Amino acid sequence: MQIHIITAFPEMFESPFSKSILKRAQEQELITIKTHNIRKWTTDKHKTIDHRPYGGGAGMVMMVEPIYKAVKEIQESIGDKKTLVLLTSAKGQVFTQKHARDFSKYEAIIFICGHYEGIDERVKEHIADLEISIGQYVLTGGEIPAMVITDAVTRLLPGVLGNETSIENESFTDENKTEAPQYTRPEKFITDEGSEWTVPEVLLSGNHSNIEAWRKSKSTI
Ligand code: SAM
Repeated sequence: MQIHIITAFPEMFESPFSKSILKRAQEQELITIKTHNIRKWTTDKHKTIDHRPYGGGAGMVMMVEPIYKAVKEIQESIGDKKTLVLLTSAKGQVFTQKHARDFSKYEAIIFICGHYEGIDERVKEHIADLEISIGQYVLTGGEIPAMVITDAVTRLLPGVLGNETSIENESFTDENKTEAPQYTRPEKFITDEGSEWTVPEVLLSGNHSNIEAWRKSKSTI
């Protein structure tokens, strides 16, 4: 899968994508992640990407033209691969595991990251396939949402996680279920204050059908 991220702050992506599973997925060429500085598609010497809102109001709005040009050029480079253009927005559909599964079926995703007071509405009306939010709160920019969605989608791609079955039993694989609680060594953890924090007996019993029943009872939302 190809991920293309249109942003005014490409340097924000250096660290999150250079560690752990996302790093390995790129090394194995299961995914390529490319950031594109939106200022590349500006035409004035100040590389302006925003302007005052029509009708007045606070702050600045990102202009449609650089975004239009960026998406067009990136789409041309992608060619006829199945591509999804996502506009990050606090007002969008709230991202869920189901979206992650649906997005993982595309061959390319283009993210548009907003900043300032937001983006000219014509980007939503004419360019993006979907306006997506990572929750009902307002962030300073669309960069963190693009990282969150990229992470959730990447781990669903075939071959990215070593053990494919771990995906099947995870929270929200079935929309109404969460994974049962997990414990590991030691069996009894004694705090500095003398409290004993133990593991549920059933998990130590070796009785697989009881363990399964316990997990089921703990996994429903
Ligand atoms: N004025 C906008 C509003 O009230 O909805 C908020 C703009 S926000 C400060 C700037 C940018 O951050 C947005 O254009 C969007 O790209 C991104 N953003 C903020 N919150 C987000 C969220 N919850 N999910 C996805 N993107 C978000």
